[in-house]
Amino acid sequence: MANLTGKKALVLGGSRGIGAAIVTRLAAEGADTHFTYAGSVDAANSLAAATGTQASRVDNSDRDSLSAFIAAQGPLDILVISAGTLVMGDPLELDADQVDRMIDINVRAPYHAAVAAARQMPEGGRIIVIGSVNGDRMPMAGAAAYALTKSAVQGMVRGLARDLGARGITVNNVQPGPVDTEMNPAEGPFAELMHSFMAIKRHGRGDEIAAFVAFLAGPEAGYITGAQHSIDGGFGA
Ligand code: NDP
Repeated sequence: MANLTGKKALVLGGSRGIGAAIVTRLAAEGADTHFTYAGSVDAANSLAAATGTQASRVDNSDRDSLSAFIAAQGPLDILVISAGTLVMGDPLELDADQVDRMIDINVRAPYHAAVAAARQMPEGGRIIVIGSVNGDRMPMAGAAAYALTKSAVQGMVRGLARDLGARGITVNNVQPGPVDTEMNPAEGPFAELMHSFMAIKRHGRGDEIAAFVAFLAGPEAGYITGAQHSIDGGFGA
């Protein structure tokens, strides 16, 4: 696996879960990989040591710090935005500030990060956002605001693909279904309900998502852009 040798990659939200699997895969494919995290210092340092990557603490809810950090990286060949958060519950009871913080992290940050990276990204660059199949389908109560954020990513990817296509930069949205992470454990209280909606009745693994991200980041995916790619065990079918 050395499809990405010579490429410089940044993964936002790479300390745990799907982001950590993406960091591991991109590094294994030869990319010079840097990742960010918000609070998990130990997890980030362990992953960086194990994969030969670099970790930096950058909170995606702080737009100006995030944009300045990306500008300071210089030209990136690959930007993957995996950082995300989930606030669930009765919308009549949810804390409005928590909902707005989720919107900041899941919507505003991907947009501003993509724009900041695009300023210096070379021809052939790749911008990949981790959305969710919930951008297409939200069959459970209590997640309207989360679904809102993931549907917003879809529109962003369509528009930015057109803004950046003339420069040979692709912009794609990878939409996982349930994946076994701390956000959505395979043994969690909603697992059985979620599996009931699916063709393949199990949680996915981070490495299954990472393999697809690596393909989109690689040299064979230059004609794929502006698209939503569900990888979800048939959750959205
Ligand atoms: P986890 O909660 O397991 O990991 C979240 C990651 O994002 C961590 O590395 C975390 O850093 C980072 N992060 C969270 N908030 C911030 C922030 N403000 N600034 C920077 N980094 C931040 O989540 P998953 O791996 O499950 O989810 C990753 C993405 O995939 C999300 O966008 C999520 O919405 C999406 N997704 C997940 C699904 C699932 O079933 N797991 C299904 C569909 C989509 P730290 O460790 O420092 O907290």
